[in-house]
Amino acid sequence: MAAGTLRRIGVFGGAFDPPHIAHVALARAALAQLQLDQLRIVPTGKAWHKSRSLTPAVHRLEMARLAFAELDRVVVDPRETLRSGPSYTVDTLLELRTEYPQAQLFLVLGQDQAEALGSWHRFSEIPEFATICVAARTDFTRARGMSDALPAEIPGLRRLEMPPLEVSATDIRLRLAQRQTVSPLVFEPVARYIAQHHLYQFA
Ligand code: ATP
Repeated sequence: MAAGTLRRIGVFGGAFDPPHIAHVALARAALAQLQLDQLRIVPTGKAWHKSRSLTPAVHRLEMARLAFAELDRVVVDPRETLRSGPSYTVDTLLELRTEYPQAQLFLVLGQDQAEALGSWHRFSEIPEFATICVAARTDFTRARGMSDALPAEIPGLRRLEMPPLEVSATDIRLRLAQRQTVSPLVFEPVARYIAQHHLYQFA
C-alpha cells in the first residue's frame, strides 16, 4: 500500500528483547480489531524506564523482523534505535504525524505499560496524536493478577481483546541463561537467531 493511502497506522513499541509469542498475538489482535492498514513495530533505542541495558539494537531489530515476518501489513521501524538520547514515544508519534498527515494513529500497549503511562514524557499530549489501545496482560510473577488500573481518564481509550499469555521477555532471558528451552515462547526463527548469535547466555 502506498504511504499516502495509509489511513490507519498502529504503533507498537517495546524493547523486544527478545520478541515473543505474546508480542505477535498482540500485533494480530491490533491489526484485526483496529482494522489497521499498517502496524509499525518500533523497538526502543534507549529505554529510559528500564534499568538493565538492552541487547544491541541490531539484534533486536533483526529478531523483530523474524518474529513478525508472517504478518502482512507489519513493518519494523528502526527510528528509535537511530535516535540519540532516550526513546520517547511522543517524539515517534509526532514524526509519524508529519510523515503520514492523512493517517489516524493508534498506540498499542500491554496493560503493564499502560499502567505506567502517567509517568511517560509529555504523556498528556499523546491522546491528541493517537488513540491509546490497551491489551490485557496476565502477570504470573505477581501474586495477584494485574489490575485494570490506568491513569485516570485517557481520552478515547480502547481495549484490545487477546487470549492471556503468560510470557515475558524477562522469563525467556532467564530460561536461556539457565540453558532451558524457550520453545514455544519464541518462534523458531527467533530461537535460531538467538542460538547463532549466542544471545542471553547470562542472566
Ligand atoms: P520484559 O520482560 O523485558 O520487560 P516484555 O515481555 O514486557 O519485556 P516488552 O518488549 O517490554 O516485553 O513489551 C512490549 C509491549 O508488549 C508492551 O506494551 C507490553 O505490555 C506488551 N506485552 C509483552 N508481553 C505481553 C503479554 N504476555 N501480554 C500482553 N502484552 C504483552
